[in-house]
Amino acid sequence: MLTVTNLSKQFIQGDQVVKAIDKLNFSIDDGMFVSIVGKSGSGKSTLLGMLGALDTPTKGSIEIDSVDITTLHDHKLIAYRNKSIGFVFQSYNLIPNLTAIENVMLPMEFARVPKIIRKQRALELLKAVGITDGREGRKPSKLSGGEQQRVSIARALANHPKLILADEPTGNLDSENGKKIFSLLHELSRTENTTVIVVTHDLDIAGKTDRMFT
Ligand code: ADP
Ligand code: MG
Repeated sequence: MLTVTNLSKQFIQGDQVVKAIDKLNFSIDDGMFVSIVGKSGSGKSTLLGMLGALDTPTKGSIEIDSVDITTLHDHKLIAYRNKSIGFVFQSYNLIPNLTAIENVMLPMEFARVPKIIRKQRALELLKAVGITDGREGRKPSKLSGGEQQRVSIARALANHPKLILADEPTGNLDSENGKKIFSLLHELSRTENTTVIVVTHDLDIAGKTDRMFT
């Protein structure tokens, strides 16, 4: 269970205070597939950054299974980011000089998973997202946008996260590939009981999630 209570985030811009998030409250059950829609600048990326502990709130709490992640420090914070969260970005953010399989293995290396298991799990994940037939050995530049996003989803899943955060994951894809990526995320929330939170502009696909936040 994810519970956000009275969450606020302010940025100081010159002599102005930008209220990016203002006293936000919501909770999400495990395994839910949730979308967030809203116009540009409404604070969606700011929220995802705080849920992923990449940024800290000005006020409020974010509890995951009763642990307030906004108070984590040092190794606990790093462990939370590495093991509990999978991030999927609009621009994929794969490491260009690593192959697809090496990209998926990397977060497991940080989590000190033995090499033989890393490789086996990476291959399984790449198979689950449809990256097979030698494409797992290619560098990102030799893969299409849709394929790169599939690899980044496999990477996000590597350490069995409780929560997947996806910030406009289909924003750089055509609508057909966008739909495929969305159904893939949906399927994963079902089969792995992973909570998935997706920011999107596409009301059509957002309407097909368990819950839509505006
Ligand atoms: P969205 O993802 O919904 O487009 P953002 O979360 O990126 O919106 O931004 C919300 C608001 O906070 C915007 O007004 C943006 O300009 C402001 N903002 C975001 N990050 C910063 C920052 N690091 N410094 C100052 N203002 C920021
Ligand atoms: Mg954004």
